[in-house]
Amino acid sequence: MQKQLLIIIAGLLLGLSTTLAAAAEAITSAEIIRQAELIRDQALQESEAYAIVEELTMLVGPRPAGSAGDKAAVVWAEEMLRSLGLANVHTEAVTVPHWDRGSLAVQTISPYPQLLTATSLGGSIGTAERGLQAPVVRVADVKELAAIRGDELANKIVFIDKHMERRQDGGDYESTVAGRGCGPMLAEQRGALATVIRSVGTSEHRVPHTGSMSVGGNVAGIPAVALSNADADILAYQLQRNEPVTLSIFSSARSLPEEQSANVIGDIVGTDKADEIVILGAHLDSWDQGTGAIDDGAGVAIISAAAKLILDSGIKPRRTIRFVLFANEEFGLSGARAYAKAHETTIDKHVVGMEADFGAGAVWNFSSQVDESRLSLVQRIAKVLQPLDIKYGNNEASGGADISPLRAAGMPILDFVQDGTHYFDYHHTPDDTLDKIDRQALNQNVAVYAAAAFIAANSNEDFGRLTIKKPDHWSCDALTNK
Ligand SMILES: [Zn+2]
Repeated sequence: MQKQLLIIIAGLLLGLSTTLAAAAEAITSAEIIRQAELIRDQALQESEAYAIVEELTMLVGPRPAGSAGDKAAVVWAEEMLRSLGLANVHTEAVTVPHWDRGSLAVQTISPYPQLLTATSLGGSIGTAERGLQAPVVRVADVKELAAIRGDELANKIVFIDKHMERRQDGGDYESTVAGRGCGPMLAEQRGALATVIRSVGTSEHRVPHTGSMSVGGNVAGIPAVALSNADADILAYQLQRNEPVTLSIFSSARSLPEEQSANVIGDIVGTDKADEIVILGAHLDSWDQGTGAIDDGAGVAIISAAAKLILDSGIKPRRTIRFVLFANEEFGLSGARAYAKAHETTIDKHVVGMEADFGAGAVWNFSSQVDESRLSLVQRIAKVLQPLDIKYGNNEASGGADISPLRAAGMPILDFVQDGTHYFDYHHTPDDTLDKIDRQALNQNVAVYAAAAFIAANSNEDFGRLTIKKPDHWSCDALTNK
């Protein structure tokens, strides 16, 4: 009797475990897709995203690394993730640089005096109290600057006059941003006193675009500013007349001691594959001129609202889905590096990464970088995104900056390309405010991230691993050595 009972119990247990296995198996196919479609459609109806970016921009506002706004953002974000119902919500300390732009005045003083609208570049130093005055030398772009070998720039102000084109994929940013990143250092190495650039951006408003510049390279740093496009036109016109133009710059920009900030992290804990992590990232910091709505309040809102929708589905994912709001992307990727270091021993457990850091425009293209043998899983995700007018691109995606250290260590990535036609009208300007965000397009993004994360976290198969790359040692010297 007892033996029979044991057999029955054992049989029941066996049956139960077979049923559980079957359930896990079942959700790998039609059910995962059906649930992902439900989550996608729910997001299109409404999500928390707009309310999240509204609160962040209206209550916290600008939050450059090391500022009081940065600290307030960390407190806000931890509370926000907790209120959504995420597990393990915590902060991980990140040391960040702290730079303050102070005040700035830029004007042509001869032969045609005009005040110009400008902003200091992140990392630039200030001038003496009386400012600096010097003749201006124009170069078309940073390559022309890098090619200069003589001393023609000694004691001059260099003007880098590269226009950036408006494109759907934002593709002209890459070729223009080196002027901001490397221009000041290259100019200083050639004896220039200061650098003025045409803004790296496509704004037609009289607003300059800020952003970071490289410091180091055996030089101490020089004052460096960006003119609004309209003001760059004024300076370019005056220079075209072949008369020497003298510019005056006063800046009180300065670096302050490093500060403490934090990555803010929350999880949806997985079930049978809980140790495997699907990571969604965005950056919490912003530049100081606007309120960081499109860069990157939108990304914070997109991934956080995606978390809420997955939680609301009531289905526990098999893998853990982790949401990371990174510290200081803008001024040196401090948060990205700190995360990769703190999680060094489990990097190979990060099965795939997705990052939202290109504003709030609708997604129109989906690319990936996964092991070639796992493209069928990518195709299943693409099929769920297809009704949102999203085409699959290729398997050569490069992904965002904050997940780049994880990608270099072999983590596959999914890349959702947003419409960036107007992104660089606002990027890093005082115009980066909430009114630039379209609620419907924002929700379309939430639909994409939530559905993709849900499929990635529930599928039997993963995305394989990428070849581990050496850390990127590209530097501004590469421009000179070409
Ligand atoms: Zn950004």
